[in-house]
Amino acid sequence: MEIKEVRPSGYCAGVGRALALVRKAVSDYPDQPVYIVGMLVHNRYLVEALKTRNIITLDDSVKTKSELVDEIDNGVVVFTAHGIDRKVKKKAVDKGLTVIDATCQYVRKTHEIIKEHLADGYTVFYIGKHHHPESEAALSLSENIILLTGIEDAQNVCCDNDRILVTTQTTMSVYDTAEMIKIILDRFPDATIAEEICSATRTRQNAVAQLKDTDVLIVVGDPKSNNTRQLAYMGEKAGIKKVLRIETARDLVNEVFNETDRIAVASGASTPKALTDNVISYLKTKDEKYLETDLSVICRFL
Ligand code: SF4
Repeated sequence: MEIKEVRPSGYCAGVGRALALVRKAVSDYPDQPVYIVGMLVHNRYLVEALKTRNIITLDDSVKTKSELVDEIDNGVVVFTAHGIDRKVKKKAVDKGLTVIDATCQYVRKTHEIIKEHLADGYTVFYIGKHHHPESEAALSLSENIILLTGIEDAQNVCCDNDRILVTTQTTMSVYDTAEMIKIILDRFPDATIAEEICSATRTRQNAVAQLKDTDVLIVVGDPKSNNTRQLAYMGEKAGIKKVLRIETARDLVNEVFNETDRIAVASGASTPKALTDNVISYLKTKDEKYLETDLSVICRFL
């Protein structure tokens, strides 16, 4: 069996910065509770690891971010790299909470582009995922933003305004986005395009798309992680016959590989490196010690 790690792996710069801000919050406010509204990154093992440091993640699919802020009485609140509705942030400030906004620079840039075009009278088409925190934050900027989630939306969207900006969530598939933009330009030739897939997402997707001589692609990451999902999709598009999405090495216990298999292991920008390293070590040795998800190891990366 030949095993190789697809690089880059480990956290992207935006996630690294968000973690650094959380670390700083803990050391700057040692006597106060530190809350994160929503998952700092889409990885439940990281959330568990944060809990061991008394950092509380408030995440509930049936509650809005505003409702989650309602639950905090005092302390520090961290908003994640995905961005946050300004009204929710203001609510936290008005409650007297110490607010730390970890919005990634690339997400901020997209928001600035959207705001500039809205001020110039544009309607914004935003290519993104339903109920994803990043698209929710972008859509909160104005009611003049239309979410497009797939090819069908691109084919059917209606707009009377001749000023249209097309922009994107940072973690979308490069392929699908290009296809959607092509459809939109066929229908609205004067639309302004600001494709905002970030460099971390693009580099990881390109690395998978360029894989050669690969029989199996294993993508390590949380089921909720959009950038991880896109890597698996890229592998399928690249014609790799077997593509597995897993959270930890434990998901491989019942998998059967051939002696001649050439296996590539990729991971999303939100996947702790320790989990990917465990997967690779398990594949190489079959040692059961790599099946344990040792939170103290993940904590070393906090
Ligand atoms: S995936 Fe891109 S936009 Fe999202 S946090 Fe990482 S660098 Fe920022």
